[in-house]
Amino acid sequence: MAYASTNPYTEQQVMTFPNTTDVELEAALNGADAAFREWKNTTFAQRARILQTAADILRANIDEYARLLTLEMGKLFSEAKAETELSAQIFEYYAVNAERQLQPEVLPVTSNKGNRARIEFAPQGIILAVEPWNFPYYQIARIVAPQLAAGNVVLLKHASNVPQCAAKMATMLSQTGLVQGAFQNLYPTHEQLAKIIADPRVRGVALTGSEGAGAIVAAQAGAALKKCTLELGGADAFIVLNDADIEKAAKWAVFGRHWNAGQVCVSAKRIIVEDGVYDRFLKLYREGIQQLRMGDPMDAATTLAPLSSRSAVTGLQQQLDEAVKLGAHAEEIALDMPAQGCFFRPVILTNIQQDNPARHWEFFGPVSSVYRAKDAAHAIEIANDTPYGLGGSIFTADEERGAQLAQQIDTGMVFINHPTMVKADLPFGGVKRSGFGRELLDLGLKEFVNAKLVSIA
Ligand code: NAP
Repeated sequence: MAYASTNPYTEQQVMTFPNTTDVELEAALNGADAAFREWKNTTFAQRARILQTAADILRANIDEYARLLTLEMGKLFSEAKAETELSAQIFEYYAVNAERQLQPEVLPVTSNKGNRARIEFAPQGIILAVEPWNFPYYQIARIVAPQLAAGNVVLLKHASNVPQCAAKMATMLSQTGLVQGAFQNLYPTHEQLAKIIADPRVRGVALTGSEGAGAIVAAQAGAALKKCTLELGGADAFIVLNDADIEKAAKWAVFGRHWNAGQVCVSAKRIIVEDGVYDRFLKLYREGIQQLRMGDPMDAATTLAPLSSRSAVTGLQQQLDEAVKLGAHAEEIALDMPAQGCFFRPVILTNIQQDNPARHWEFFGPVSSVYRAKDAAHAIEIANDTPYGLGGSIFTADEERGAQLAQQIDTGMVFINHPTMVKADLPFGGVKRSGFGRELLDLGLKEFVNAKLVSIA
């Protein structure tokens, strides 16, 4: 069964879900189309009430929602609660801000005749969301809240290993008073997904996931002449300059690389340290990792969660072995490993030479690539030596200089003195092979609207 829920801590398969049948798929498309005709005519006040109710339900039942996240994909319970709260904040953000953000934009008078012109932001129809497993609720909130706020409706295809989380969010949204069919969770095959993309009622596709899936889905959207947004992988640089607060930088690096067991698109995957503080930083960083504790992700004392699946462990190990075969040096941090669960001991990877292709890989787990930079300019050069362009950070005592250097980093997001972070009121997205388009804020809200000119002579 393609859609299956397996607890990464016990490695027990808990539940399987049959694929959506072709008949169910057609019914879902019909239902979504009918829902759109109703939903697009709702007022902002009606939409806001529903989005706020979604936020309220998540918050009122936070432990229940968080528990399922932990049991299904293995993240720490504290992280699961934070993700549930973040998802609530995103629903609330659009409940509060969407009406203002979607107000028509009045254009300057363009001729002596006094033409009046404005841009209106009209909904278009069904948007398909294809999402990954690493933040099962947040990924849904990030696309569903803005699209519903804009008057579109959403069909969801979630990752095959988080079907319970997908179903839970569908149930939650059905409890908000949302028009039936305006959000539907499906369990399609990849072939069925291609059919959905080709269906004329579907007006756009938003995918978050790997480059491979992004390229396939974007090609299908392109063949159907439909817009898509892609939020793909990343290998964020975490730059530490000589003048940085090294203790603080090392502490944030440990967090930035190991939260969600290192399975974050914006993890601090490449740590680039200026020569003058390299040895001191590395010592503190290593000591920080040594403090991590693997264990039951429901236990508050656990600080390093298992990976999401056994295949994730195997895949990461293969990647690491290959990097070492090609010349990198791997230092495994000898944490106690529980007898069960999809755990992976943290690794510090150094000596990743220019000719080692591992320089350009995304390690989706607790593997830190550490580089020594001659100076700030060299650090920027290393930071940009990647196919990815998602986030990044610079640690320095001189915030102004940090902001100046940020202009030279070719990514969608740069943070000064903080690892790349995710918030309900900050935009999210990247460039290069990290994809295109933005989620959250008014940028995400307007990705799939028709910016329609209305001109009155
Ligand atoms: P993935 O394998 O690409 O899966 C993502 C989604 O795409 C899943 O729903 C998956 O469904 C679907 N998919 C995969 N292959 C497909 C195909 N050939 N046709 C149609 N759909 C397909 O990615 P993942 O391993 O779950 O997630 C990890 C990746 O996502 C990392 O690279 C990470 O950096 C990236 N990510 C990016 C962001 C961001 O915002 N930029 C956020 C989170 C994660 P199945 O499960 O059924 O295959």
